[in-house]
Amino acid sequence: MSQSVAGNKTPACFHVRGLRRVYGNGASAVEALRGVDLQIPERELVVILGASGSGKSTFLNIVGGLDQATSGEVLFRDMDLTTASAAQLTQYRRRHVGFVFQFYNLMPSLTAWENVALITEIADAPIAPAEALALVGLADRMDHFPAQLSGGEQQRVAIARAVAKQPSVMLCDEPTGALDSETGVRVLEALVDVNRNIGATTLIITHNAGVAAIADRVVVFADGRVRETWVNPAPKSPRDVTW
Ligand code: ADP
Repeated sequence: MSQSVAGNKTPACFHVRGLRRVYGNGASAVEALRGVDLQIPERELVVILGASGSGKSTFLNIVGGLDQATSGEVLFRDMDLTTASAAQLTQYRRRHVGFVFQFYNLMPSLTAWENVALITEIADAPIAPAEALALVGLADRMDHFPAQLSGGEQQRVAIARAVAKQPSVMLCDEPTGALDSETGVRVLEALVDVNRNIGATTLIITHNAGVAAIADRVVVFADGRVRETWVNPAPKSPRDVTW
């Protein structure tokens, strides 16, 4: 049985308690996370805000199984990521997590279709690369190489690649950070569409406070802690957001 969010029947996708992460030790130790408590229900689209250095990426890396906590508890459904072995974390990332980063990390010598197909070859229950590319509005760009695509289109290929394995969660670290606002809107639209279509719990880190309006839930980090969270009763379309 998954844990449920207090006062809410929706099961929790992530259940985080007392999460701490210290980098280094002794005089040079950096406390990146100083006790984070957070519950994220399944299928929500969550926007994470906070000043640079407040711990957002560290948090995303830990819930994505790329890094491990110093102490505390991080449950993905019933799996405790803080006590998982390296092999279990690899399986977790492979089965459940789609990552999208600020820079797209596409293979320049492969077409959009081939970049997505690379991932579907190692996934358990992938959707066809063409279908994933269609989901992000790139059905007519499948045979293009990254250099023949705009920045926003390359980011949408990266989203299609993450989506193609039908992840349970999509973790996006500044996905619009390198894009102008019009292009950024299209990338956010793709992420919202994917969230609604495949139901993946979606966490998006951004430094644009205006983007908070598209979220079901907003989480604000400050100094390695969650400063506040709120729920948007009526999330806006990315097109109606200004930043
Ligand atoms: P944000 O994503 O909010 O900008 P980060 O999670 O990247 O914040 O960083 C939180 C703090 O941890 C910062 O002070 C940063 O310098 C530090 N930090 C992040 N990664 C490392 C690392 N690998 N080694 C040492 N310190 C780190």
